[in-house]
Amino acid sequence: MDLANKRVLVVGLGKSGVASALFLKTRGASVTVSDAKPQDQLGEEIPFLLDHGVTVETGGHGDRTFRGQDLIVVSPGVPFNAPPLTQVRALGEPVIGEIELAAQFLRGNIIAITGSNGKTTTTTLAGEILAAGGYSSLVGGNIGTPAISLVDRSTPETMLVLEVSSFQLETIQTFRPRIAVVLNITPDHLDRHGTFAAYRDAKARIFENQQTGDFAVLNADDPTCVELAGRTRSQVFWFSRRKEVKQGAFARDGHILFRDTEGQREIMLVSEIPLKGGHNVENVLAAICVGTLMRCKPEQIRQAVRNFKAVEHRLEFVATIDGVEYYNDSKATNVDATIKALESFPANIHLILGGKDKDSDYSQLNDLLRARVKRLYTIGAAAPKIESQIISQKHGGPEIVNAGSLEKAIKCAAEIAEPGDVVLLAPACASFDQFRNYEHRGKVFKEVVNQLARPAN
Ligand code: ADP
Repeated sequence: MDLANKRVLVVGLGKSGVASALFLKTRGASVTVSDAKPQDQLGEEIPFLLDHGVTVETGGHGDRTFRGQDLIVVSPGVPFNAPPLTQVRALGEPVIGEIELAAQFLRGNIIAITGSNGKTTTTTLAGEILAAGGYSSLVGGNIGTPAISLVDRSTPETMLVLEVSSFQLETIQTFRPRIAVVLNITPDHLDRHGTFAAYRDAKARIFENQQTGDFAVLNADDPTCVELAGRTRSQVFWFSRRKEVKQGAFARDGHILFRDTEGQREIMLVSEIPLKGGHNVENVLAAICVGTLMRCKPEQIRQAVRNFKAVEHRLEFVATIDGVEYYNDSKATNVDATIKALESFPANIHLILGGKDKDSDYSQLNDLLRARVKRLYTIGAAAPKIESQIISQKHGGPEIVNAGSLEKAIKCAAEIAEPGDVVLLAPACASFDQFRNYEHRGKVFKEVVNQLARPAN
């Protein structure tokens, strides 16, 4: 793609929008960025962009902004079917996402990882396994470092491990991963995709450009992943923590094994995984498939997994205070992630739930609430919906405290929790009603907990 003197519009001034604008500018394009938000709600990069000769439009899109562009690059935060985009697409203007732009310039092997949950954990771990295997690996995508900003560092030998979201996959054209991993597909983002089928189909686009020599790595324990296997031309490898698979990685009697046409080999013991929860065994199995397909040795993989630390805000241990353990799982922004968090503790949980609803069905939590949760603290805008959907105390559910704020929930829990109990933030909701993002919510949780640990003067 030759960008010199092309008119390019970047829609959305988030991290990937800023990185795209700068990239496009260095390639000689004439670049405008446009964001619906007012300037004071956007990052501090605007003066920097202006200095680099990028035209910046904030507080809405002008009538003519979208017209006459040679290329439009949309950020994942901007709905692909927003009216101005639908109109220009109908007029035949090329509209792509940042991940597609990156794919056209990146050199090396792309390993793309998607799924409703576990992407960041698995992407980070796969990057570390490949590095342990002697590769030069770069990790990016939805994980924080936009893929476009990896272009200049990539070489034909680089392993590019990219976390990709359903929103990013909606805007691809030629993006072709050498290995495409789908960890799981459970309801999420239904407020934007509309239906589960549309969400699943967006995820399935990860296979769209794969060829027979490429690989797909799929979760054999996830029915929607099993359904998707037919949609790829590539060679399918499975992972499972419940059963043996013909080709791929699985757990049997505490051992993790990998099997392919070359036979079966042991990689490591399940007990060597330093992360909590059965869901993390799945993430490790998926990353092992990536490492093994790229010919890393079992011992290199084993060491990388053993040295791996939980990523911040993902079932992160914070402190033990008066015998009570506090865990920050602020990244549990959907019901399935909360289910996995609850499954990681046998009982005596004080669960903090709530935030901004994403058209979720909280009644799916009822069995675990009944079996493992002592008390439930609701916070944020979704509290009334959660309280209306979950099992009442009368029917065997936990006591419900409408705490309103996160700080109040933690303090109420700390007052009543007994040694051996667990206070868990796994809110099943987005954070934007009360926080800037899930990281902000997790940091507030940790601050309040750490204050509890300090004796008052
Ligand atoms: P993502 O990048 O897909 O959001 P993360 O690794 O950031 O994934 O984890 C998001 C949330 O999902 C966390 O609450 C984490 O504990 C939980 N989680 C991680 N892996 C899985 C998995 N394989 N299945 C279900 N939940 C998971």
